Amino acid sequence: MRVILAVALVVLAGCPAVQPPQPTTPEPRSPEPVSPEPVSPEPEPPAITWARVESPADLPAAPPAGGSWRIHMIDVGTGLAILVQGADFSLLFDAGSNDPGERPLRVVAYLAAALGPSGDEQCTTSGAPTGTRRAIDHVILSHPHQDHASALDLVLHCYDVRHVWDSGAVNDAVFYRDFLTAVSEAAGVTYHTASPPPTDRTIHVKGFGVTLPAAVGWQAFSEGDEVALGTGARLTLLHAEGKRHSDPNRNSIVVAVELGGVRLLLTGDAESGARADPSAALGDVEEHVVSHFPALVDADILQVGHHGSKTSSRRAFLDAVTPRLALVSAGPRLYKGTRLPDAEVLAALEAVGATVLRTDERDATCRGCDSWLVTIAPAP
Ligand SMILES: [Zn+2]
Ligand SMILES: [Zn+2]
Repeated sequence: MRVILAVALVVLAGCPAVQPPQPTTPEPRSPEPVSPEPVSPEPEPPAITWARVESPADLPAAPPAGGSWRIHMIDVGTGLAILVQGADFSLLFDAGSNDPGERPLRVVAYLAAALGPSGDEQCTTSGAPTGTRRAIDHVILSHPHQDHASALDLVLHCYDVRHVWDSGAVNDAVFYRDFLTAVSEAAGVTYHTASPPPTDRTIHVKGFGVTLPAAVGWQAFSEGDEVALGTGARLTLLHAEGKRHSDPNRNSIVVAVELGGVRLLLTGDAESGARADPSAALGDVEEHVVSHFPALVDADILQVGHHGSKTSSRRAFLDAVTPRLALVSAGPRLYKGTRLPDAEVLAALEAVGATVLRTDERDATCRGCDSWLVTIAPAP
């Protein structure tokens, strides 16, 4: 809110009369003339704007200018993929889909339009190698579910990824083994997990042991860790749970990303518990981050947890976040018989004043055409 300061000017009028000295009675002090101090206006918060992206061809060709950032919610159908892009870094939070026939190459084609093409013949729709390799600074797998991970092995193959973040909780599934294998083949990457690395550097999944070679760094991370992303941008890890749970959603990595004066909260499939009305009590990961990081969950932009399911977005959580913009990635496939997002969650988001952007609005007519580009730039 802009504060308008009214400056009162004191005008002293008239000539002072010449008075004889009166040593016994000190004169009352006349007010000092007030000279108006220069008023330095509060810096304007950056402006947040958004637009639907029907095709990767519509994306700007050049990276964002310094002091500006882009958040892409890529329409991957029933899944999640969010790309955060600055002038000097890139971060991919999940890239996966549960839709039959969904091609991971769609995500790579989007990344090629946003970041530039990269990689060999497997990385292009034409089948021709790009002749170059580009970097992605950070790839975060929020938790080991296919709808968040299915494209990550191809991303790791096509781009030089510098840092991979993963809870470390194993899901005994082929897609997770493929992801780990791609990490093991990505020379120069550093793999970050919430659980400490085993001494033999081997992870057993789906009948095989995947060993990370010495060329792959391996470090443990903890809640509260801060990571510098680029000029004016950093992330803080708010939930790090490496212990294996029967429900991998409970391993969701939650991060607060600062972009200039704007905060983005990425939650993956973080939940409060069983499906319930948003008025139900906070629990699980949502309760954890609200109680441990109340200031950092207060965000401008929220990636709505678990595709807008009633397992998440309790009213107490949304009251702590109070997002201006709510990003809901959902698709045509049912989650245990339920189509997401839930109407009650959408109503709760609007009740806290959020504008909701969704990837599923035109699934029936054009799949993949509801990506959204959110731009953060200095106020005009
Ligand atoms: Zn999910
Ligand atoms: Zn999940």
